Amino acid sequence: MTLFDTHCHYECAPDEITASLSRAAEAGVGEVMVVGGSQTLNAGVFAAACPALKIYRAIGWDRDQAENAAALPALDYTGISAVGEIGLDFYYPGASREKQISLFSSQLELARKLDLPVVIHTREADDDTLGVLKEIPSRGIIHCFTGSPGFCRKLLDLGFYISISGIVTFRAADNVRESALVVPDDRLLIETDAPFLAPVPMRGRENEPAFIAHTARFLANLRKTSLDNLAEITTGNARKVLDAK
Ligand SMILES: [Zn+2]
Repeated sequence: MTLFDTHCHYECAPDEITASLSRAAEAGVGEVMVVGGSQTLNAGVFAAACPALKIYRAIGWDRDQAENAAALPALDYTGISAVGEIGLDFYYPGASREKQISLFSSQLELARKLDLPVVIHTREADDDTLGVLKEIPSRGIIHCFTGSPGFCRKLLDLGFYISISGIVTFRAADNVRESALVVPDDRLLIETDAPFLAPVPMRGRENEPAFIAHTARFLANLRKTSLDNLAEITTGNARKVLDAK
């Protein structure tokens, strides 16, 4: 069995990153994707190194960079597997809808030009996310999915893979569990979104890729399958969407 954590972030020192990834390898994780989105998160992507497992890298500019989009430097995508994370988040009052949509759209256009998949964050922005994706056909991952089963189906119709985080283990997350059951085997992914959102029974601790095993086990029970089978389908899907050779 080999697990693939399709989404984690690092903002710590290189030796701490290597130690965290080594613990993941010991916990059965064979592959991880380290994801950027800001200057510091993108730096963490390039700093990630560990001989014990395979590392994929995603870089890009997330919604928090939308206010200063004009000042964002161009990034070097050599050796990069995906553009992300990018997307829309209208959870916090005062978020500029127009500026977020503009940056999101330009990142999708860039991914098309580079022929790379995207890693999309979407929260409280269902209609705008669907609107932009219909205008700019794209492929890739909807990460840390927390929307309704109906929204999930619409994203599946557009061809996206749906990544389920440790939120699925939280007591109050019935809608995430419902959505996780809507995703067919061939579109399902798992992620930690570390250092955030540690799954049960690790809540309260800083999350890390090693903890993906808890989410995988929970999801296997929910979908009435074995951990081995869940690991096999999610790892296979992740390799496929990231064009891993
Ligand atoms: Zn993230």
